[in-house]
Amino acid sequence: MIFNTLLPSIVFQEVPGEISLCFSITGCDIGCNGCHSTELWKKENGTFLNEETFEYWLNKYQNLISCVVFFGGEWQPSQLISLLCIAQSRGLKTCLYTGRKYIDLSISHHLDFLKTGKWDAALGGLDSDTTNQVFMNVKTGETLNHLFNSQGVQHAAA
Ligand code: SF4
Repeated sequence: MIFNTLLPSIVFQEVPGEISLCFSITGCDIGCNGCHSTELWKKENGTFLNEETFEYWLNKYQNLISCVVFFGGEWQPSQLISLLCIAQSRGLKTCLYTGRKYIDLSISHHLDFLKTGKWDAALGGLDSDTTNQVFMNVKTGETLNHLFNSQGVQHAAA
């Protein structure tokens, strides 16, 4: 089954305090109004991300990154979990950005951080006091939205 990613990139703001390698998985079917990552809607976009290519990217950035973040991919839990397990086995933290309100427990067991909630321009992103989105530490259950308030992050993707 297709599990494609756009070209991974290093990001600094999506997971506060971490340097993350970010994989944007295509095939998002949530359809948020005003989505500014519509290239993620079509599952054929990007290139196939399997265990081998994932390890390639981790090797390329080893010693530079402390975390791996996925924008989407929860629609294929088994594939996502297998990659999360690889990241964890290397001592990396893991994060998922999803537009859904809830995800499978089988996925969250492999996450350190989770951002939930659709993009709603009227409510704003994680840096907005009125946002519907939640960024949390999965291990402690603590909501960490306050860490985004001064960063100006308006991340809508997944
Ligand atoms: S979840 Fe993210 S990528 Fe998907 S439609 Fe919403 S904003 Fe766009």
